Amino acid sequence: MVRIAVIDRDLCKPRKCNLECIRFCPMVRSGRKAIEFNEELRRPVIHEMLCMGCGICVKKCPFNAIYIVNLPEELEEECIHRYGINGFKLYRLPIPKRGKILGIIGQNGVGKSTALKILSGRLKPNLGRVDEPPEWDEIIRRFRGTELQPYFKALVNGKLRAVIKPQYVDLLPKKIRGTVEQVILIADERGIAHELLKDLELEDIKDRRISHLSGGELQRLAIAITMCRDADVYLFDEPSSFLDVYQRMKIAKLIRNLALEDKIVVVVEHDLAVLDYISDLVSIIYGTPGAYGIVTEPRGVRVGINEYLDGYLPQENMRIREYRIVFDLRPLERSWKPEDILFTWPKMTKRLGSFKLIAEPGEAHVGEVIGLLGPNGIGKTTFIRLLAGDLEPDEGYSPLGKIEYSYKPQYIASDLDISVEEFIKEKGDKSALSNSWFLSEVIKPLGIDRLLDRRINELSGGELQVVYIAACLAKDVKVYLIDEPFAYLDVEQRFRVSRAIRHVVEARAAVAFVVEHDIIAHDFIADSLIVFNGKPGIEGYALAPLDLKSGMNKFLKQVGITFRRDLHSKRPRINKEGSYLDRLQKSIGEYYYVG
Ligand code: ADP
Ligand code: ADP
Ligand code: SF4
Ligand code: SF4
Repeated sequence: MVRIAVIDRDLCKPRKCNLECIRFCPMVRSGRKAIEFNEELRRPVIHEMLCMGCGICVKKCPFNAIYIVNLPEELEEECIHRYGINGFKLYRLPIPKRGKILGIIGQNGVGKSTALKILSGRLKPNLGRVDEPPEWDEIIRRFRGTELQPYFKALVNGKLRAVIKPQYVDLLPKKIRGTVEQVILIADERGIAHELLKDLELEDIKDRRISHLSGGELQRLAIAITMCRDADVYLFDEPSSFLDVYQRMKIAKLIRNLALEDKIVVVVEHDLAVLDYISDLVSIIYGTPGAYGIVTEPRGVRVGINEYLDGYLPQENMRIREYRIVFDLRPLERSWKPEDILFTWPKMTKRLGSFKLIAEPGEAHVGEVIGLLGPNGIGKTTFIRLLAGDLEPDEGYSPLGKIEYSYKPQYIASDLDISVEEFIKEKGDKSALSNSWFLSEVIKPLGIDRLLDRRINELSGGELQVVYIAACLAKDVKVYLIDEPFAYLDVEQRFRVSRAIRHVVEARAAVAFVVEHDIIAHDFIADSLIVFNGKPGIEGYALAPLDLKSGMNKFLKQVGITFRRDLHSKRPRINKEGSYLDRLQKSIGEYYYVG
């Protein structure tokens, strides 16, 4: 075994902790400097050769900034990159194949973006040698005997060109200026800009400035810019965030076309239905988020996703999670009694500029989670704002007049210079963070306890998302309105957030309305569905809530896709359009829950 010590530079706050890690280290007490303060880095450094791995510093650090991990010795030879002294370590790399799409799945913080940056040539891997980073010759030699050797040789010699669609599209307006059309034309090396504007439904907004675009529009623009480039390697970091189901299917098909053109394509994605549909092969990255990540050999997409959900990798004989993520073949039938009704809403209409929303009347029940499904621009947010009374309906009335609610907006601000703790206290109830039930049901499972001291403007997209969700749930109210909670969250986090919402709603006899485009996630979050249809941007209809099975059928019929079930994991998988099952299921009207 070899010991690695990682200190998370974002979590370590030496000025606030009395240097507990150094004070209590038994090695230091006996005169050997296993850990010492480094003036240059302005934080402690752990000398891995001297550290005996007792873990006392891990327990003493008030900010959970230290990881001490023992890993098999042979793995050290396969270290690809280390971010500085006591930094995160990545072992092995995904092995892309020409003409095939390699999907990458793994928790946030295990090095997926790092792997993409290395494959793109933007980050020169140091093979773990922080002090004496190797030159490319040596790096290429290291990959001898694998497909990565010719890959990097060609990349370094300029014979292979790689482009990357970055993860955080919300940062795009800070990096580029101009209108959608101007930006895409500048990037267009393949003469396909206008085709892409049409395919990605950006034509109507081609004169809009980047700074005025929504998240979904920025995502499609970022994908278009990437695809316009004349490259050999296309790397997509979370391409489906903020996109609706129609758009997810559209980009999935466009990305698949790249593989047909014999390009090398790698996709990091957390929407399992999309990942499954896009990829030919899957590499799993597992490890301890923030400390280290290990990349597995590519495997078939079905097997790869199933192993990931099972939490066990037979080839590596490695358990990567204590629990399995399982799906229900049939939804839990919930029946409501009249006394379960928490509130009802009337027929409501609202005109906003040239858009009109018509909402059918409906009722919400104690302990119910209602999912909202529909394309972007169809009025889901407008509906939530009408419920809340944030917008006054033209017809009908806002039902939550006297009922208190808590709201998580779709777009979350990130420039607040306050701590996570202050933010949660401000947005939620002041006492939430001293309530042991809330701590064990929400704060700990979402990993917020590790973030309480961090500043909001320093958080990553995924961290910001869980903080906003926790702040929303920190209010003890009867109604939760949660708009797109899963953007930037990994599969585990989606699962844990779903569970936290469910527990809060049940314990407080409340109801939650959740807008989300990840269809499979509705399987474990929703009891019923409000399906939206109409013409995005022009007219939207919100139907009354339907049970999960009827709602899924209604919605998927609109989209025109069917799901079959994986025999092993019961996981829903998108059928190929026109396949036997697709035709059969459409003919009997069973789009999701088969049997
Ligand atoms: P993922 O894409 O799986 O969420 P990343 O590759 O973004 O993971 O990051 C993996 C780990 O590396 C994280 O813990 C992150 O804090 C750390 N990290 C990322 N970039 C840097 C950097 N430039 N310097 C130091 N640490 C970094
Ligand atoms: P969704 O949440 O389903 O994506 P929204 O409810 O946000 O949809 O928006 C529905 C439509 O209403 C969009 O076309 C949007 O541009 C338009 N819209 C929203 N707010 C306003 C407003 N204040 N003025 C004019 N149009 C608006
Ligand atoms: Fe303080 Fe923890 Fe950083 Fe050590 S690792 S200096 S205890 S915050
Ligand atoms: Fe010291 Fe133990 Fe921490 Fe190593 S693990 S630095 S020996 S306290």
